[in-house]
Amino acid sequence: MCLARAHALRRTGSRGQRATVSRPGPPSSLDDSGLPARADVVVVGAGILGAAVAHYLAQRGASVLVLEQGAQAGSGATGRSGGMVRAYDPDPSVADLALRSLATYRNPDEWARGAAPLHVVGAVTIADPGRDQELEAAAGQINSALGTAAHVVVGSGEAAGIGLAGGVALVEPDAGWVQPSQVTEDWLHQAVGNRARVRYGVRVLAIEEHRARPRVLTDAGTVVAGAVVAAVGAWAAHPVPGMRPGAAVRSRSIQVSIVDRLQPTQPHATFVDLRNGTYAKPIGSEQTLIGLPHLVWDSPFDAPPDPVHEQHTLRALAAHLPWLGSTVHHRTVRASDAFDLQSAADRGPELLSETDTRHVWSVRGGNGVGVRVAPEAGRRIADVVVADLLPGVA
Ligand SMILES: Cc1cc2nc3c(=O)[nH]c(=O)nc-3n(C[C@H](O)[C@H](O)[C@H](O)COP(=O)(O)OP(=O)(O)OC[C@H]3O[C@@H](n4cnc5c(N)ncnc54)[C@H](O)[C@@H]3O)c2cc1C
Repeated sequence: MCLARAHALRRTGSRGQRATVSRPGPPSSLDDSGLPARADVVVVGAGILGAAVAHYLAQRGASVLVLEQGAQAGSGATGRSGGMVRAYDPDPSVADLALRSLATYRNPDEWARGAAPLHVVGAVTIADPGRDQELEAAAGQINSALGTAAHVVVGSGEAAGIGLAGGVALVEPDAGWVQPSQVTEDWLHQAVGNRARVRYGVRVLAIEEHRARPRVLTDAGTVVAGAVVAAVGAWAAHPVPGMRPGAAVRSRSIQVSIVDRLQPTQPHATFVDLRNGTYAKPIGSEQTLIGLPHLVWDSPFDAPPDPVHEQHTLRALAAHLPWLGSTVHHRTVRASDAFDLQSAADRGPELLSETDTRHVWSVRGGNGVGVRVAPEAGRRIADVVVADLLPGVA
């Protein structure tokens, strides 16, 4: 890395931010031709996590190159995601990420388009009634951090349009959902405004060591990097040489169905039932996305929808959305996400794992690290990578 660049990184520091947020040009301005010979950081993958990391690194003054094998950003899980965001999580380290990320999703000043991406429809988390004290404590923490009106609903049949099915609910009226592809594009626009380059249709084939730094071999040429961040989602389960995460990662199928609401006026919040993993979110005023964990491992990313699971999902969700029985099933979407096999206790709060190549980092798999934590995860990953580029600075 050149001295001027090192000074720029020193000036911005680990939590430093440039004073202004760049406003986007037209989307076509994201792509450019030719690979540079060098970059401080190569980010592999333009999903929501790669875009977050690229944005916060470019904001800290690093020269960033994003390489995406697909024709556009969000070609992986991000483009199919429901984008539900809420502050609560039973895992305290994930809850901390989610709380700070929700603050970012609510803040219009953080976004190139000048508006916060959050669709505020409320979020309901349903749990066993024995956990009411824990949910009360979480509501207090969320409200003191965000100034919101989260509260617990006990003994009612319904909260924010969602049947509780015997559970107790933490209601976050100021949470909801974001459009993950829109968020991804916004961060990439901001990164480009801070001189990052984004190349689509470029597949990373291998990474090898070159004079103690990574050399990235792609189907469009070779780039020497100060560090590499692999944000490749489900593809981490079959890593290219030089990009193997330290801990085993598998890919897990996710399948959701979209249904028409026959009574479009009936609003409801997003929800997740922690007892069985069922979830839903409204799409506009006329449709709802519903999901149920689909425990199929290592299926191809674009495997066709599973009709049996589709039926299970419709049945399982009827306890929460009683009107589902008289609605029209619109379509089913299937994709895969990365899943880190380490337990939360073994893994700790780290968001990156080292790989088999020095200065090549892999973003941790998706259990707990998805859309709802992407802003804070991106910031923290950028801090780690800046520290790796300039030991002792961040
Ligand atoms: C149907 C569905 C619903 C979901 N709903 C929610 C939700 O409501 N809330 C939530 O928080 N999360 C949700 N998730 C999870 C969340 O969407 C994912 O965790 C998140 O999008 C993963 O982002 P990512 O950037 O890690 O991976 P991806 O979006 O998969 O991005 C990885 C990128 O890397 C690229 N890539 C891979 N290998 C290479 C290579 N060798 N060279 C170049 N590029 C490469 C891929 O093309 C891809 O674009 C959902 C996921 C799905 C599928």
